[in-house]
Amino acid sequence: MDRFSETEGKLAHDPLTYNPAGFADETEGKMEQNPLMYSPRSAARATATGIPVVGDQGVAVLPGPLIVGTGPAGLACAARLTMGSVPYALLERDVCVASMWHRRTYRRLCLHLPKRYCQLPLMPFPRSYPTYPTRQQFLAYIDEYMRTFGIRPFFRQEVIAAEHNGEYWCVRTKDAIASPINDGGEESINLSAREYRSKWLIVATGENAQPVVPEIEGIHNFKGQVMHSSEYRSGETFQGKKVLVVGCGNSGMEVSLDLANHNVHTSIVVRDSGHVLPREIMGLSTFTLSLWLLMFLRVQIVDRILLLLAWFVLGNTARFGIPRPSMGPMELKKVCGKTPVLDVGTIAKIKSGDIKVFPAIQSFQEHGVEFIDGTIESFDVVILATGYKSNVPYWLKENEFFSQKDGFPRRPNEWKGKNGLYAVGFSRRGLLGVSMDATKIAEDIVQSYNDIYKL
Ligand SMILES: Cc1cc2nc3c(=O)[nH]c(=O)nc-3n(C[C@H](O)[C@H](O)[C@H](O)COP(=O)(O)OP(=O)(O)OC[C@H]3O[C@@H](n4cnc5c(N)ncnc54)[C@H](O)[C@@H]3O)c2cc1C
Repeated sequence: MDRFSETEGKLAHDPLTYNPAGFADETEGKMEQNPLMYSPRSAARATATGIPVVGDQGVAVLPGPLIVGTGPAGLACAARLTMGSVPYALLERDVCVASMWHRRTYRRLCLHLPKRYCQLPLMPFPRSYPTYPTRQQFLAYIDEYMRTFGIRPFFRQEVIAAEHNGEYWCVRTKDAIASPINDGGEESINLSAREYRSKWLIVATGENAQPVVPEIEGIHNFKGQVMHSSEYRSGETFQGKKVLVVGCGNSGMEVSLDLANHNVHTSIVVRDSGHVLPREIMGLSTFTLSLWLLMFLRVQIVDRILLLLAWFVLGNTARFGIPRPSMGPMELKKVCGKTPVLDVGTIAKIKSGDIKVFPAIQSFQEHGVEFIDGTIESFDVVILATGYKSNVPYWLKENEFFSQKDGFPRRPNEWKGKNGLYAVGFSRRGLLGVSMDATKIAEDIVQSYNDIYKL
């Protein structure tokens, strides 16, 4: 049985009582010590609304908040609300939770940051997990999180419009979705259109809701295969082929490494400058080191230290085609939100010649690509590691808190708008930011829910 149907099968049983021994043993001891964490399952029985009751007109009026999206951010809010005894409803367009991790990541993916920065509120990762848990371990953790907090989402509910009518957020969902299951077959289910009304709307649809596919000259004439990195699963399928990866962010660098590890002829396009740092320096996580240094030193000084250490470990990245921006990595993150790449072995493969670096693409040809330096090279497959974007502007009719331009809150790290509108997971700070947002949002809603219902 594959991972996804396994999850669904277990949920078909009582989601509140399933308790795999190993996982619970390692987390429950800690939960007893935390007063917030007492009896999550009994709280869940009281608060998880599961499928909301829809009236004759196809409208469900909810007593508590509506959460859109069941990635880590939506689940973290659900868990926190459960512990505050606030009933909620949770909508998901897909047929599983954490769909990005289930269906849009490659098999060998590991968390980029140490596990203590990636755990969701109220439940640490098991002690037996390595510092950088694998995708499978992260998904097992997510499953256990659902069970522990009795989270029961309403699947196949794509939100297509949401607007405030003066009293409620009126949220409309699409009738049905056709969805590829585990890379094979199509499942199409018909549901009637619904409208949900709630005083609180939590937007948890993520920074990565839609793949970005750039329009590059001649791309439609290319006779080879073109795919987005979200469709990439493993280098195994590309053996014997010449593959070009476009983009050198974390995804592009890791997909290239995975391809090279499968002995695929791999090339990567590096269009701009970018910071690459080793994931660890002398056994210490670079992320942990930079957080620690930032407590004592100015960001520019921290950047100088990081760049010096990176130079010792990786060498001069400009020499093999990846020049560094003039602003340092931490300052760039602070000012532009651009995350440095954490290298897990790609630079070594570039140095050894197993991965070739090319400059920006000029245009596609029938069987290859012309680069801006005039080089022409043939390729069988092009993988666009060109990132993702928020889909909020497509469905949320509000533009004071959320920007219609990029679908992020207008002010960085902002989590609360007007009329009970919230954003979780839009701070460009990964899972750590998700947990921080979810905690603040749940506290705010618990307070306002209790005020309304005079609890
Ligand atoms: C490849 C990759 C690796 C990453 N690794 C790390 C890491 O190691 N550490 C870290 O801290 N961060 C990491 N991140 C960044 C980030 O933490 C993750 O993207 C994380 O999944 C974000 O959680 P989320 O819930 O905000 O969004 P998502 O996981 O994207 O979840 C959003 C959910 O909303 C649903 N949805 C979207 N639109 C609608 C709609 N209109 N109606 C209903 N449902 C909708 C989606 O189907 C999805 O299930 C990584 C990101 C990527 C892309």
